[in-house]
Amino acid sequence: MSNTFDLVVIGAGPAGYSAAIRAAQLGMSVACVDKSIDSEGSATLGGTCLNWGCIPSKALLDISHKYKDLDRYDEIGVTVNEYSVDIGSVMSRKSAVVKQLTGGIQMLFQGNGVATFAGTGTLIPGPKVRCVPHSGSPEILDAEHVILASGSVPIDIAGAPVDGEFVVDSQGALEFQEVPKRLGIIGAGIIGLELGSVWSRFGSEVVVLEALDMFLPTVDERIARDALRSMRKQGLDIRLGTRVVQTDVEDGEVIVQYVLQDETQELRCDKLIVAVGRRPYTEGLLEADSGVNLDERGSLYVNDLCQTGSPEVFAVGDSVRGPMLAHKAMEEGVMVAERIGGAKPMVNYDCVPSVIYTHPEIAWVGRTESDLKAEGMDTKSGVFSFGANGRALAGNDSEGVVKVVAEAETDRIMGVHIFGPQASELIAEAVIAMEFGASAEDLGLTMFAHPTLSEAVHEAALGVAGNAIHAINRSSRKG
Ligand code: FAD
Ligand code: AMP
Repeated sequence: MSNTFDLVVIGAGPAGYSAAIRAAQLGMSVACVDKSIDSEGSATLGGTCLNWGCIPSKALLDISHKYKDLDRYDEIGVTVNEYSVDIGSVMSRKSAVVKQLTGGIQMLFQGNGVATFAGTGTLIPGPKVRCVPHSGSPEILDAEHVILASGSVPIDIAGAPVDGEFVVDSQGALEFQEVPKRLGIIGAGIIGLELGSVWSRFGSEVVVLEALDMFLPTVDERIARDALRSMRKQGLDIRLGTRVVQTDVEDGEVIVQYVLQDETQELRCDKLIVAVGRRPYTEGLLEADSGVNLDERGSLYVNDLCQTGSPEVFAVGDSVRGPMLAHKAMEEGVMVAERIGGAKPMVNYDCVPSVIYTHPEIAWVGRTESDLKAEGMDTKSGVFSFGANGRALAGNDSEGVVKVVAEAETDRIMGVHIFGPQASELIAEAVIAMEFGASAEDLGLTMFAHPTLSEAVHEAALGVAGNAIHAINRSSRKG
């Protein structure tokens, strides 16, 4: 096989595999180098997302939600006498889903003629990529263009070193073989809340320690408040303003010291998950004179078009600036492949949806009303409760609200924030509306099937002008 390619991609996560597949579709000869090894010791494609991130976490979230929901079946007249959960079977199911999807990437690579190299890739001037395989001798791959898509890894904190047994990161937390009785989590971010929800539903007593005084500071204030109340009601003991300073493992127990209002306190638990964020991963990726630089946060430095300082080299996904999300990574990968192919697409960074897959889910796109106001924009908003939505009530799943925020002068939608059932699916409507520059009136004039959860988005958009039908609008209240 020739080692000369139009494109060599380092990393086969969502950013890298999307770039490789799109470039091959456009007729380029493509190689993709990835070093990931699965729990059975085999090379695996799909990166963090498919192996240790989005997919296994959603498998566990969905199974644990179905299990926990059985507690509420008596509310709808269905008696379920006995049920239990077998964590071994749950983990097998999760692994089967992961295997199906990682195998799917392998098939897509084969089907599109992408050459796969299992090993570590390093960018060297040329551009060329040196690939050190897991077994065998190093090879040099010549390339017209190179895309770096090396992803991210969990952040460690000095006070809580991960030992893989008692103190684990998100990967370890997706692989517990039994339900920990007492589970501590450091960090009430997206990953901490999702993992906390999983294990709390399976029966753990969960305490979440969060250094900030504010819960979910990037989320709409009202939604963050509602979500905090809801999660505490579900049993997550979320302690804000608590900064972890030290952990020790003694006699199979984790002792966590944290500071709350200048006083040191202690938490004892059976397992501790460190979920304090992720950092770009670039170890061994760049030879000193590769021409690619890092920014002050350790990300590969790129412009809006994902170009690095070296004209033939691009970088995409978690290893570059912006939100560490799989869909953002995929869009960047496709954009760069198409740009190398001669087209001129761009990623719209103003329309990246975010989702927290708790129950109810939290999803948003665009800006919060308080941020817009702080910047001096005059805004108006419409809020609609799922408690007044027929489909949500029929399904016994009616907690939450939709909020649509628009610029007062133009009525243009600036942000949509959802806390409620299937928020992750509903937010797509808002993303499409914003991508097309819709006004709240445009969304209000659109017809939605009845009865659906989507009608809550419709009503919130109508509510911006005080025209919601199934709610008393602020502007039409009498007396
Ligand atoms: P990665 O998926 O990290 O892939 C990078 C790949 O490059 C890896 O396989 C790595 O081994 C390989 N690599 C790195 N350096 C080299 C090298 N020098 N040579 C060869 N190979 C190399 N995002 C969402 O959008 N939705 C979610 O629901 C979601 N849930 C998540 C849950 C968890 C628990 C975690 C940890 C993350 C989650 N994420 C989620 C984030 C998501 O996984 C990442 O945003 C996404 O994987 C980024 O894709 P990427 O291709 O940039 O990097
Ligand atoms: P995210 O970046 O969304 O994954 O969230 C990680 C969370 O961990 C942030 O909200 C941080 O404030 C929190 N965090 C970071 N370090 C600590 C610490 N030492 N103790 C408690 N919380 C922390």
